[in-house]
Amino acid sequence: MSRTPGLSPSRANDFAQCAYMYRLRVIDRVPEPPGRATSLGTLVHLVLERLFDLPADERDPAAARDLIRPAWDDLVSDRPDLAELVTDSAERAQFFDDARSRLGTYFIVENPTRLEPHGREVRLESSLEGGPAIRGVIDRIDKAPDGALRIIDYKSGKSPRPGYGDQADFQMKFYALLVERIEGARPALMRLLYLRDGGVKELVPTEADVASAEARVRSTWTAITTHAAAGVFPTSPSRLCAWCAFQGLCPEFGGTPPPLDPVAVERATGVRPHVPPVS
Ligand code: SF4
Repeated sequence: MSRTPGLSPSRANDFAQCAYMYRLRVIDRVPEPPGRATSLGTLVHLVLERLFDLPADERDPAAARDLIRPAWDDLVSDRPDLAELVTDSAERAQFFDDARSRLGTYFIVENPTRLEPHGREVRLESSLEGGPAIRGVIDRIDKAPDGALRIIDYKSGKSPRPGYGDQADFQMKFYALLVERIEGARPALMRLLYLRDGGVKELVPTEADVASAEARVRSTWTAITTHAAAGVFPTSPSRLCAWCAFQGLCPEFGGTPPPLDPVAVERATGVRPHVPPVS
């Protein structure tokens, strides 16, 4: 069953970075090889999710370390190409060292023996009137006895440098908007935990924050559907191209774009493009 066209914070940020990258990822659904950083993040997230299956007094760094290998084996059984990331024994050792290090940092910024999450890896979806669906996966939701909600997101990278936190700010406001629409109450606190350096970024979301997230989602969606109607998703080369998995299909790097499939555009955006017939 196809999903209602919509946006998550990641896809909105993709479009802001490069409309052509958004097209390849969301419309063409070009498969991406697993990246080391993304896979490390997936592993650390899974361990932290499972950590809270343990009784509170057993949630210590040793228990978290013991969860790493079973979690990795489960990830690889779902997606065997992950194993190719760490075939070399030195790379493999470094990869699991990095996972242990991120988890060690986690215990510095939080004490999980004092937490009982209300939800973990929570998939949420709502929609804006006359606009797109909005969706996301929230790593953890904590609920205080008075009902106040705290939204936690783990980041396996380091905290953004001053002046480079726009994506993180937008994500927190986007999730505040999403949770408010579903729960009927604005979260009391949004918190990002950066497990490479122990940085913590917080926001007490206001009505203006939620309104600004909604305005940004709407303007981004207007831009996406305008590009979709025209059948044109231009490239935006930047220093971030160095991390882009699509260089081989990118004209900026000598690649040839795949033909645009109008059905795929409509499925992803709700808009059928005016693509001229091939003569
Ligand atoms: S390499 Fe750069 S310009 Fe090309 S798709 Fe990726 S982000 Fe866009």
